[in-house]
Amino acid sequence: DSLAEARRAAASPLFANLDGDIGVSFEFFPPKTEKMEAQLWDTFHALEPLAPRFVSVTYGAGGSTRERTHATVARIAATSSVPPAAHLTCVEASRAEIDAVAEAYWEAGVRHIVALRGDVPSGGPYRPHAQGYANAIELVAGLKAVAPFDISVAAYPEVHPDADCAQSDLDNLKRKLDAGATRAITQFFFSPDSFLRFRDTAAAAGITAPIIPGILPVSSVAQTRRMADMCGTAIPAWMVSLFDGLDDHPAARQLVAATVAAEMSRRLYAGGVRDFHFYTLNRAELSYAICHLLGLRPVATAKDQAA
Ligand code: FAD
Repeated sequence: DSLAEARRAAASPLFANLDGDIGVSFEFFPPKTEKMEAQLWDTFHALEPLAPRFVSVTYGAGGSTRERTHATVARIAATSSVPPAAHLTCVEASRAEIDAVAEAYWEAGVRHIVALRGDVPSGGPYRPHAQGYANAIELVAGLKAVAPFDISVAAYPEVHPDADCAQSDLDNLKRKLDAGATRAITQFFFSPDSFLRFRDTAAAAGITAPIIPGILPVSSVAQTRRMADMCGTAIPAWMVSLFDGLDDHPAARQLVAATVAAEMSRRLYAGGVRDFHFYTLNRAELSYAICHLLGLRPVATAKDQAA
């Protein structure tokens, strides 16, 4: 009957974005080689017509990509109407060095920074630089003193490995927001319920800033395991078993990957989520497919209008 049909429609991601209420952002890493550079820009140009709210570019361990991150972000700022966000960490740099990087971003027209503590490149416990910012709270306050940046910070639905407990992790997030950040982007996760619980706990603790789920579209469990081990994200047994046996079947693996990510996005949408941040790993297809399922359609870009 028509009521059942309406319910089914409401549960479908194909009916999302009816009010144009979905907002997406995409994360890239700065390329190391010419080939990777070409891939990054192909990916960027494929995703750009989806009119993301912003795109962000990561900062390598210990500032190892300082110039490459800057070059990538500055090129986006100069050539696209999509606002770029530059990731910046506290690792192995003095306050003066970090402030200089931030000033150069401001001068290049970059207004959004993703402010992070970072990790020690060699692994092990975090040690702040003697003249540096000790953590992301201090970095946010330092950046605000440089210029009125829009600042995003990191949040951890499954709790950061360095945190004493979930409550202290949440207190830390609140302090980062109180220091001047305007939104949080989460570490990737595979349990939509863990995100929704975290969002609700944060709201109950008085956090009013948006908390945007970070979606990692998985197409290789081995690669995801390496990333998850570093940040304490759990890889559920069902995911391992879903990808089991697909190593030699790339097309099937890609279809399974899209299904997993689409289901997660659908459940987040059903839980009230309207903003999604995609860890693209500099690949467009999976992120594009999920955005399409969420109801996003391409709009004309500055490049199209110039043509
Ligand atoms: P902080 O918020 O400063 O602290 C991390 C955790 O440590 C806190 O959650 C807190 O619970 C705990 N903690 C430890 N000591 C204390 C204390 N004394 N008081 C209070 N709390 C304490 N890394 C990169 O190198 N480059 C990137 O570009 C990058 N981009 C990222 C983007 C996103 C969206 C996310 C989620 C992570 C990213 N990371 C990146 C990883 C990040 O740098 C690490 O997760 C790092 O270990 C913590 O950074 P943070 O900004 O969350 O740190």
